[in-house]
Amino acid sequence: MWSGRLRQAGEVSCRTAAAWLAAAPLVATLAWASPAATRSRLLRSAMFPRLAGRGDRGHVALTFDDGPHPQGTPAVLEALARLGVTATFFLLASQVRRFPDVATAVRDAGHEVAVHGDTHRNHLFRSPAGVRRDIRRAVEVIGPMSGEPLRWFRPPYGVLTAGSLLGARDAGLTPVLWTAWGRDWTSGTGPQCVADTVSGRLRPGGTILLHDSDVTAEAPGTWRSTVGALDRIAGEVEALGCRLGPLGRHFRQST
Ligand SMILES: [Zn+2]
Repeated sequence: MWSGRLRQAGEVSCRTAAAWLAAAPLVATLAWASPAATRSRLLRSAMFPRLAGRGDRGHVALTFDDGPHPQGTPAVLEALARLGVTATFFLLASQVRRFPDVATAVRDAGHEVAVHGDTHRNHLFRSPAGVRRDIRRAVEVIGPMSGEPLRWFRPPYGVLTAGSLLGARDAGLTPVLWTAWGRDWTSGTGPQCVADTVSGRLRPGGTILLHDSDVTAEAPGTWRSTVGALDRIAGEVEALGCRLGPLGRHFRQST
């Protein structure tokens, strides 16, 4: 009887071990990809407010991704100069190599420069080493032209993996996503639509995501809608009693 029970127990533990072995790739994938859950706006806002971009409640951070762009970035810079607003620009190193003068113009206009990556590829589909190499390369290109030490990192598509977090940490960067976006990369959008979309999520202490570039957009020239929406967005931030500006000011008291 005992030998039968022992054999049974042995079979169960073998089956358990086999099940664990079969599940190992899935477990490893979940561990690798679990930070990507912060892509959920509600989850990150509740559990990781700083990562979500929630800062000083007397302030709203204005951020632009995917530049520099030869037409979009100068148009955004001109609109911001007219409004007397500075912002944070998350640059792609691949774009900085193509348009170094436009990148320099961002810095020279008094805006904050930050890191969006070298190439615009989803970290979920890259190896940890590939992600860390991408961030390192981006810092090597963007760092020397930034004028000030780089502080912020935002992964492409807002998708963070364990590799993104390690790569950012190695580079001394803090990941920041957003609380409100304009969905200004979509085709068929317009200034009114972009401003309405931002307005729906606009709160004191939030961070706005827009794009000064159409390199990853669904249609060319989407930055025109972004530029057209800036007046109204700035007016709504003012109506909230907040100042609009870069992340460096947004997190000033907590860093
Ligand atoms: Zn992007």
